[in-house]
Amino acid sequence: MFIPKRIIFEKDVLHYPMAQAILETFKDKPHTQIIQLSSNRIKAHIPGDELATQFREGKRTLVVDTKKSLKFQSCKPSAHYQLPLVSGCMGQCEYCYLNTNLGDKPFVRVHANIDEILCQANKYIEDRLPEITLFEGAATSDPIPVEPYTHALAKAITFFGNTSHGRFRFVTKFNDVDSLVHLPHHGHTEVRFSINTDYVISAYEKGTPSRDKRLEASLKMLQAGYPLGFLIAPVFIYPHWKEDYHELLELLKVQLPQKLNFPITFEIISHRYTLIAKNRILQVFPETTLPMIEKERQFKYGQFGYGKYIYPKETMDEIKDFFIHEINNLFTHKEIKYII
Ligand code: SF4
Repeated sequence: MFIPKRIIFEKDVLHYPMAQAILETFKDKPHTQIIQLSSNRIKAHIPGDELATQFREGKRTLVVDTKKSLKFQSCKPSAHYQLPLVSGCMGQCEYCYLNTNLGDKPFVRVHANIDEILCQANKYIEDRLPEITLFEGAATSDPIPVEPYTHALAKAITFFGNTSHGRFRFVTKFNDVDSLVHLPHHGHTEVRFSINTDYVISAYEKGTPSRDKRLEASLKMLQAGYPLGFLIAPVFIYPHWKEDYHELLELLKVQLPQKLNFPITFEIISHRYTLIAKNRILQVFPETTLPMIEKERQFKYGQFGYGKYIYPKETMDEIKDFFIHEINNLFTHKEIKYII
């Protein structure tokens, strides 16, 4: 669970039950400062003159506000829309896309008007009838660390469990899933766990649970009947990478039950970076050992007008061949969604 150093309540947000529950949870905690804004100047309350400090303090800050615009972002190709529950994350993954996406506002932000958000989701579902509409709940965050006091995922899962044409998915690296296992999800929410080798987790994913804890949580969700997937990302090439990723997949295989109600899905993403991300990462994590040397990569133009540095073609082919072979060998009831 994310215990913030400070919680900033936006003006008027305490009318909402979620905001009241968060205040109740933390009001007597000695190490959490409670700030109730009279204006909406959030950043003035987060200390730090330079980026690295602002980043670290921002990551320890929870902002409770309402989602003003109820126009949902699209989320192609993995879903039709983003479901705006949370943005930002307490994790310290050095490669995280949020490092650049959230700019100088890396704080965790939860939206207290969850009922209005789900009502809006229902409108999007109705607009697309008789098609199924899929929503992604982790496009700008990892929603699990704040779940013990927001209960936003629980509400969303229950809401989608009761809809005939709405589906939900989210991804997490965190293992605090006990409050989700008994929900009436009716198979309408797909939970994906982001996993990686011990080497990658200890080198680059600070502030996140171990590989074994994530696997344990994934089995709990599987036993609770949720459709389950694994996001193996980012894949790094380092000495013994094949042995380590093989060990990871084999560990997963021996823990999975023989009989599965849904195929286990796999999404595999190799490490890539933009120059904007690299510059920012080097400012925030000056000691990083992330492999970001342009001459060891190939440049690929991106769909949003900026390019990424990905592994060279021969390495990309090797990654694809390796994971296709391993997953096909080890798992029977499975679906490889993509390897990029
Ligand atoms: Fe980013 Fe996910 Fe790590 Fe959070 S857990 S910092 S969202 S990569």
